[in-house]
Amino acid sequence: MRDKEEQTFIIMKPDAIQRSLFGEILSRFERKGLKIIGVKMVKISDPLLEEHYSHLADKPFFKTLKNYMKSSPVVLMVLAGTNAISATRLIVGPTKGYEADAGSIRGDFSLSAQSNLVHASDSPETAKKEIKRFFKDEELFNYEKPDYKFVYSEKFF
Ligand code: UDP
Ligand code: MG
Repeated sequence: MRDKEEQTFIIMKPDAIQRSLFGEILSRFERKGLKIIGVKMVKISDPLLEEHYSHLADKPFFKTLKNYMKSSPVVLMVLAGTNAISATRLIVGPTKGYEADAGSIRGDFSLSAQSNLVHASDSPETAKKEIKRFFKDEELFNYEKPDYKFVYSEKFF
């Protein structure tokens, strides 16, 4: 895959907050070198939730998914970095926690197909739509970090 600067959308789901895993999970994204360019705590409204999970509207678990996602506040984030979308999905792991590899967030902390701690955009098209759905332009920050040239080696050349 070619290197490209990307932005991806993350939700720290209710179980991440309730199980006090927010810091642990955030730390994994930070240590990877992803840059936080937006962050806020919200309770997601029904219309936004239905839009966000519209691809699952006909699934039998849709109702419990909505109840789960509304059961506590969540933290929304936009992360930036080289190949940020696919790199973040690798750190998060596949949907079902009991099938996810050890070392991934879901593999290390989830045994559930629903309460799997984190949402992460699955493609550049989805990321663009999701960021626009949940963040205003003025809630996103463009800033330099001193570790940038070490995280992205091509910056030396
Ligand atoms: N989900 C569920 N039961 C399932 C599959 C998915 O409750 O059998 C929930 C789960 O919380 C998942 C979310 O629906 O994260 C969105 O599903 P998707 O297939 O988009 O998985 P993801 O992209 O989060 O891995
Ligand atoms: Mg998905």
